[in-house]
Amino acid sequence: MSPANLRWLGHAALDVRWGGVRLCIDPHRPGALGGRFQLPEIQGPFDALVSTHFHEDHAGWTPALGTTLRLDPPCRIGGLELTARPALHDAEGGLRMGLVRMIAVSDGNTRLVHAGDLGHFDGADVAWLAGCDVLVVPVGGTYTLDAEGAAALCRAVQPQVVVPVHYRDARIDLPLAAVEPFLGALGWPVVGPQVALDMANLPSSPSIVRLAGP
Ligand SMILES: [Zn+2]
Repeated sequence: MSPANLRWLGHAALDVRWGGVRLCIDPHRPGALGGRFQLPEIQGPFDALVSTHFHEDHAGWTPALGTTLRLDPPCRIGGLELTARPALHDAEGGLRMGLVRMIAVSDGNTRLVHAGDLGHFDGADVAWLAGCDVLVVPVGGTYTLDAEGAAALCRAVQPQVVVPVHYRDARIDLPLAAVEPFLGALGWPVVGPQVALDMANLPSSPSIVRLAGP
C-alpha cells in the first residue's frame, strides 16, 4: 500500500505523501520576509507544489523542492483531487491582507483541508468545509485567525482531526501567539507532538493532532 501521511514542515508548510504522489503545500522561502524566517530549507523531491496564497512565507521556491510544477486547483494529480475556495486573509473583507484560498485534497475517501492564512470565515465557508476529516488551521493570530477564532471554526466544522499551524516558533520573527491558547480554547484531546499523521488511520474520536515539525 502506498504511504498516506502528512508531515509538518514548519509555519504553514505541509509534506503530503498520499495517493501515490508527494505534494508540498505552502512552502516558505528560506530567509523569507527579509530574514525573519530561519526555518531549515524544505527538502524534496516533491511531485508538485500548491499554495494557498502568494505571500513568500507560503509560496517560496528553491531547487531543493525538486519540482517546478505548481498546481492551480481544481485539478487532479495521482490519486488525489484538489479543489479550492477563496477566503479572506483578514476580518476587513480582505482590504488589509487580501485573499487566500482554502485548499482541499481528497483521495475519494478522506478529505484534508489546509485553511491557508484564513483570517475570517462565514457560514458559506463552514458549509464548504463540512465533511472535512483533517482540518489544518492557522492559530497564531495577527495575520490569521487567533486561538478563539480557530477554535470557533473547528467547533463549527467538526472535523475528525485538527492540525494547528502558523503559530509562534523561535525561528520565525513574527508576532504570532503560541499554540497553547488554541489547545485550551478548543479543549479537544491533544495527540502528539508526533512526526506524522497517518491519513489512513485517523484517531477514532475528534482530536487535535500536534505535528512535530522540523
Ligand atoms: Zn502566513
